[in-house]
Amino acid sequence: MPGFELFDFEERKAVNDLFDSNGGVLFAHGFHNIRNGVFKVRDFEKLAAKMFNVKYAQAVSSCTAALRVALAALELNSDDEVIIPSFTFVATAEAVIESRAKLVIVDIDKSFTMCPKSLELAITDKTAAVIPVHMMSAPANLEKICEIAKRHNIRIIEDAAWGVGSTWRGKALGTIGDIGCYSFDAGKCISTGEGGMILTNNKILYKKARAYHDHGHEYATNISRGEEGAIGVGFNYRMTELQGAIGIVQLGKLNKIISLQRLNKAKLKKILVDGGFQFDFRMIMDKGEGGDALFFTLKSRKQTLDFLKLMKQNGLSTKNVPDAMRWHFAKHWSHMFQKNSLYKDTYQIQWQKSADILERSIAIPIMVKMTDEEICEIGSKLLQINKKV
Ligand SMILES: *Cc1c(COP(=O)(O)O)cnc(C)c1O
Repeated sequence: MPGFELFDFEERKAVNDLFDSNGGVLFAHGFHNIRNGVFKVRDFEKLAAKMFNVKYAQAVSSCTAALRVALAALELNSDDEVIIPSFTFVATAEAVIESRAKLVIVDIDKSFTMCPKSLELAITDKTAAVIPVHMMSAPANLEKICEIAKRHNIRIIEDAAWGVGSTWRGKALGTIGDIGCYSFDAGKCISTGEGGMILTNNKILYKKARAYHDHGHEYATNISRGEEGAIGVGFNYRMTELQGAIGIVQLGKLNKIISLQRLNKAKLKKILVDGGFQFDFRMIMDKGEGGDALFFTLKSRKQTLDFLKLMKQNGLSTKNVPDAMRWHFAKHWSHMFQKNSLYKDTYQIQWQKSADILERSIAIPIMVKMTDEEICEIGSKLLQINKKV
């Protein structure tokens, strides 16, 4: 889980330093006379752009906001269609609904990310964008998705809420499509409490995103706040200086967080493989995946329920699959579709292929601070259960 596990005196100090140095200007812009040149959000953006090797980084208030802003930057019309996978957090769907584009949801495959074949089948002449989701730090099949998107002239927004610090072919997740979106909420790889970021190499998209997240303000550092031009309609999705200050500290811990999680996941997987674990692990798209959870898929629904029952008896927990499926699998989102005539068809589909995978799968949470003893204990309990089901 990550960022919040390593919240420490450094984050506390960053907040105190902010108050000490400028008396507590928490707004990212303006107040030039009293802020003593302290701009934490801007510094956070610069550091992130450098670390993830991308031209532009725009901090926002959450990843949900980042997705909404990314869609705004694409300037979609109400009959444009945006394709997302059936397994993601509801936020991906909400951002499309809020942008008033038509939401199209397609199946996942054994990688637990968007199935490229299902994507291709869902494309129409109205498709404007696709949002692959790097679910729980697993890279989506970007090779195929990028190829399909290019062939059909569709924009790619990567939902890399969970992908901060993970890579695909050596590139940071979130920097491969047209726009990438990061989350820094309390459950993600690094955290600013709440927070998000947009990444892009496209200057035009960056300018539009930057303006949209801040009521249409044109970004200007050399004139007073209020004197800048207005680019268009926008909203308020700004990040505060407190979050920026914490984000800078957390970025410094990211490599450690990712490498410890990868290591802990590899240790647990090895114990299971060496012990003759009979179930399939998640299909891996790239070795740059993070280590947020260890997924495996059982043979039947009944066996999965039996396995889960024994896990509970042994005090073992799961991560989202299956405990929070309500929030992560489109099959359970009728509350979002029923009252909206635009989505009547969407809700009819039911995503059978995804259901078949998700309803037979279990995800084990991997923590940064797991000790070897804890990993061994979880491993041996899972192996015992494996023999009984
Ligand atoms: C957490 C999450 C989001 C939303 O992030 P917030 O920063 O909490 O708004 C979006 N997409 C996915 C896949 C997520 O897991």
